[in-house]
Amino acid sequence: MPARFISPRAIERLAVEMREEANSPSKPPVDVAQLAEAFGCEVIYVDFTPDTVSARVRRHDHDAYDYLLEVNAFDSPKRQRFSIAHELAHAVLHDDAEDEFDFVEDRKPLADYADPADMYKEVQANMLAAALLMPEQAVRREWARLDDVDDLAALFDTSRDSAYWRLNNLKLLVNG
Ligand SMILES: [Zn+2]
Repeated sequence: MPARFISPRAIERLAVEMREEANSPSKPPVDVAQLAEAFGCEVIYVDFTPDTVSARVRRHDHDAYDYLLEVNAFDSPKRQRFSIAHELAHAVLHDDAEDEFDFVEDRKPLADYADPADMYKEVQANMLAAALLMPEQAVRREWARLDDVDDLAALFDTSRDSAYWRLNNLKLLVNG
């Protein structure tokens, strides 16, 4: 299934709409598990032995849930938060009904995806995950106040790398 193009602006708008629909509080850190549940994901923490997988999402029909979202139980809490947001993004963006829906996140670089469409879906999921975990307006407001990547990461409960890339993509790092 080819990936459809979604502009970065559209992804930001989608993140805002999703948080509104889920009544997700605007004060950081974002409660990403609550957000995932609001969109039909049952979040469970599992042992993926051997440790080559960070998370997985697929359809299931269980009680009120449409998806089973498995997270590596041994990853750090920050890594788990990003995984939940990333899998939720797949569920929202990439469930094409007629195809099988099952994303398994192997620990491998994006460049290792053989199919460009698959790689693009991973990029989209990362973009929406970042927009969900670090809401644009909140990041702009807090960055103006904090002006420190580590403090921003601590406030939003993300890794320093995630915070850095979010700031970079929002073009807030210009002039240092
Ligand atoms: Zn993925």
